[in-house]
Amino acid sequence: MSAGTRSTPVAASRRIRLGELEIVALADGAAVSWPEPLSELFPDVTPEHWSGLRARHPELFGTAGGWRLDVLCYLIRGPGWNLLVDTGMGPAESGYSAFVGAAGSLPRLLATEGLRPDQVEMVFFTHLHPDHIGWNRVGSGAARGLTFDRASYRVPALDWETFQDPGIEAGAAWPFVADLIDPLAASGRLGLVAAGEEIRPGVTVVELPGHTIGHAGLAIVGGGREALLCGDAFLHPAQVERAEVTMLREMDQAAAIATRRRVLDGIVDQEVVFLGSHFPDFGRLRSTAEGVGWTRLADEERALP
Ligand SMILES: [Zn+2]
Repeated sequence: MSAGTRSTPVAASRRIRLGELEIVALADGAAVSWPEPLSELFPDVTPEHWSGLRARHPELFGTAGGWRLDVLCYLIRGPGWNLLVDTGMGPAESGYSAFVGAAGSLPRLLATEGLRPDQVEMVFFTHLHPDHIGWNRVGSGAARGLTFDRASYRVPALDWETFQDPGIEAGAAWPFVADLIDPLAASGRLGLVAAGEEIRPGVTVVELPGHTIGHAGLAIVGGGREALLCGDAFLHPAQVERAEVTMLREMDQAAAIATRRRVLDGIVDQEVVFLGSHFPDFGRLRSTAEGVGWTRLADEERALP
């Protein structure tokens, strides 16, 4: 293998096609090096495992050796409809963006797809953490309003309930519930969803609990192809390689491990495209010499830009 072949394929298309459906990965922003050490965030990963991960996925390690993670949203388009999944880290002034020293660019990315915010018809949230709701509102003072001001909103019912607990806002590093979540209900366009609900033709809610109590993903099926949008059920390839690797802020770690095992049982070595909210690219979960691993989707499986 020559030196260049393992580097990020910068020319790779960020879109795939499943029959009449198209999925576009929108990288809202990236934390160049997460402020907390990886050893604290993923305490179960051994030093040997970290060195293996560093060799296999150098792009996930920042300059200071910390976690370099993308914050992705996805745009799913079908005949006559569009669906945005999550709203990312938000503008530079959002609490999350300030914490990681970056800024999101979702509205600009949507514009390159020919969409103004008021043309987004539905927003689905995998869960309600700040890096998935960051662009819910824009503007300041009296002008602060919903960014996607004509969209309907779909939130896993159990996650909505979880984030209505006043303890969440009280214990957060910065306030976000009153500012970015509560206005969804006030819009009158909020719909709470459960597993098995088909929110658009070929797009079905899948429960993936643990990261948050009501965390959910989407099974996307079209043209004989399939993708599983996993949100934060897996945050890092470390959790693909070892399902029992926990992350500090998983709300229910036992449920998170059970979810990862269930997903791995279902899609390892299957022709299912793996979509994560913090993975750098479209991928698949494959058996490897070491066990199981995350790999990038082959270029020939992508749609032309
Ligand atoms: Zn996240």
